[in-house]
Amino acid sequence: MQRYADHKLRWRVYSRDRGQCQYCGEQVTFDACNIDHVVPWPTGLTVFKNLVVACRTCNKAKGGAHIPLKLAPVRLRKTGEERAAAQLFRANRHLFT
Ligand SMILES: [Zn+2]
Repeated sequence: MQRYADHKLRWRVYSRDRGQCQYCGEQVTFDACNIDHVVPWPTGLTVFKNLVVACRTCNKAKGGAHIPLKLAPVRLRKTGEERAAAQLFRANRHLFT
């Protein structure tokens, strides 16, 4: 499984997220955006569901750790996947520094 999304996948994620950083809501251009793994690779796979648009600031702040749920992407928080996200968070605790 590849670590980085290819151009087509990046574009799909960017379109779905409407070019908005899913952590802070900042609008980012396609060229400037980071495609972020919600659950860090390689635990989290490079697949559509596990990828979100992130601005450089948020991507850097997050680093390789799974983020606290309150900072989870808006989409995860809104779609009732909190439990799944919380479970992933618990399972990936060791990734925190
Ligand atoms: Zn951001």
